[in-house]
Amino acid sequence: MNQKKSDNTLFEDNPFTIEKLNGRGGAFLVIPCYLGEVFSREKFSEEQKMFEQAALDFAKDQIKPKHKDLNKMNKTLSLELFKEIGKLGFLGTDVPEEFGGMDLDKTSACIILDALSSGRSASFMVTVSAHTGIGTLPIVWYGNDFQKEKYLPKIASGEYLSCYALTEPSAGSDALAGTTTAKLSDDKKYYILNGQKIYCTNGSWADICITFAKVEDKYTAFILDKTCEGWKLGTEEDKLGIKGSSTTTFFFENCKVPIENVLGGIGDGGPIAFNVLYAGRYKLGATTSAGAKFTIDAALDFAKDRFQFDKSITEFDMIKNKFSEMVRMAFESDSIVYMTTGSIDKAIKELNKQDENYYILLQKIIEDHAIEASACKVLCSENLAYIVDELVQIMGGAGFIEEYDAACLYRDERINRIFEGTNEINRLIIGSYTLKKSIIEELPVRDLIKDRSSNWIPNFDKPNSLSKESQVIEFCRSAFAHTLNESINMFGQDLKNEQWILEPLANIIISLFVMDTCYKRHDDIEEGEHKHNVAEILCLSIANHYSELVKNVRIILTYLDSLNKNSVFIKQLDCWNQKLDYSPNILVYRQAIVNTLYKYEKYYLNK
Ligand SMILES: Cc1cc2nc3c(=O)[nH]c(=O)nc-3n(C[C@H](O)[C@H](O)[C@H](O)COP(=O)(O)OP(=O)(O)OC[C@H]3O[C@@H](n4cnc5c(N)ncnc54)[C@H](O)[C@@H]3O)c2cc1C
Repeated sequence: MNQKKSDNTLFEDNPFTIEKLNGRGGAFLVIPCYLGEVFSREKFSEEQKMFEQAALDFAKDQIKPKHKDLNKMNKTLSLELFKEIGKLGFLGTDVPEEFGGMDLDKTSACIILDALSSGRSASFMVTVSAHTGIGTLPIVWYGNDFQKEKYLPKIASGEYLSCYALTEPSAGSDALAGTTTAKLSDDKKYYILNGQKIYCTNGSWADICITFAKVEDKYTAFILDKTCEGWKLGTEEDKLGIKGSSTTTFFFENCKVPIENVLGGIGDGGPIAFNVLYAGRYKLGATTSAGAKFTIDAALDFAKDRFQFDKSITEFDMIKNKFSEMVRMAFESDSIVYMTTGSIDKAIKELNKQDENYYILLQKIIEDHAIEASACKVLCSENLAYIVDELVQIMGGAGFIEEYDAACLYRDERINRIFEGTNEINRLIIGSYTLKKSIIEELPVRDLIKDRSSNWIPNFDKPNSLSKESQVIEFCRSAFAHTLNESINMFGQDLKNEQWILEPLANIIISLFVMDTCYKRHDDIEEGEHKHNVAEILCLSIANHYSELVKNVRIILTYLDSLNKNSVFIKQLDCWNQKLDYSPNILVYRQAIVNTLYKYEKYYLNK
């Protein structure tokens, strides 16, 4: 790594050393881009590459040839493939070895999902992801030995398909508002559940279900299995997309659940319900990031062979423009997903697996990364939406015709912005966790604010061709710190309820996360062609997120100025922005990227 030194005093005489912050959630907010490092696919271990290859092979040989059949409801085929994946161990990535799983690090679990997604069946990936994530983790994290022994080996092998039923007709985003009840039976052997759960992924195919009900007023988690009387299925939902996955309503009509199937303790349902969702969010980042890459390949394959005005449409600059942006977005998604899992893994490595509180501590680490997990969920799903929309456009009329894959992809991607917490809810999480970590000083955000109050563009000695870009990122970090500070000064703790501010604030944080991560990723790559290719994208990414970030900072500061009846904040922003003097040549960046894409004839950054 390059020698990194600066006039930034934040990490001098400060209890939060870089060393301590590495592996902490939200650390990217305060560690300058010329310090610190991130995990990325360039750092995959040999074992991780081996898992990737095995999953890629399976996707190519088993999923892709059947992807059209998997896009329609086909229980037999879906479950056949599901069991095959179980034989490879891929259903037990998060299950302890003593219960038949592989107990892999979080990066490897995402690598496998990423690689399986290359089989191009969103429906099948939803089935697998619901099972391995929200359908499995509650038992791994909260189950007692009896429950783990009874269920986990069958979950890991694929003998059982699992699901997770939280949502109710009156309780969606406000999940704890559910009205399903659980009453102890007279003989005290069962809880009797009454109520309704909706939109349950894997619903009509599932053997077991993690669900939630109130014992008096205590929200509690339960494991249901097919032997529970009174667990009744509704009909299959007729969905907009992911039509090859099962989604049903459950009716609990005096449903008898043995008392030994209470998960955790009575009243523990809230944390159980929410904690597994943090993991689901970065995993959704992995599958949508994978989708972005194969969508680019599909668009390019089509465009190369489509001739208009005696030319392949790839030769038109407006089409080139689309491809360059698609590559940028796919690269950003990939970068933030593996940055997140790498940071989580780094922290988990410090734990002792024999510690009786191991899973409590592990969950704390994952929750500590709530900002990163939600940012992965939001950015990767929105990048995929953009990319798939451009696929349809590049294909012209063919993009609208069912015979081609684009129409199905267009429908399938839509769900990613809705489940695992809608993107609105995830933006609230990003804003509120940043606020919390700043106020209780889990992160030295106050020090950052102080450090940057009189200088938004710290000088530092980093003699490389991207020194302007690092200056831009540090300007953006200062703008974030300043905006957060003034928002807290205005609203105090009530800021957590100010959605007009929280939404642009979340967007600022996402932009900073992307720029900082991509820069640090590039910094650690060895000199050579790959580094050069990454640098091209990095420049475009920084140009794009700089302008997004400044736009959102402007929205907030203009509003705060209007409440203060002056224009101090905006003047300050404009003054520092002028000093930054950054006018990126975006078209040159885009041209370079598309030339490289055309040379490789596919998404080329999966090193
Ligand atoms: C195909 C599919 C599969 C699913 N699988 C599962 C599953 O396996 N298990 C399960 O339990 N659930 C599942 N769900 C449910 C899914 O998680 C919910 O649909 C989702 O959480 C949103 O809840 P809702 O539909 O009630 O929307 P609502 O909560 O009613 O939201 C409607 C709109 O209001 C916005 N909104 C809500 N609250 C706020 C707020 N505080 N601030 C700002 N905006 C807000 C939302 O972002 C959204 O735009 C699935 C849904 C679908 C469609």
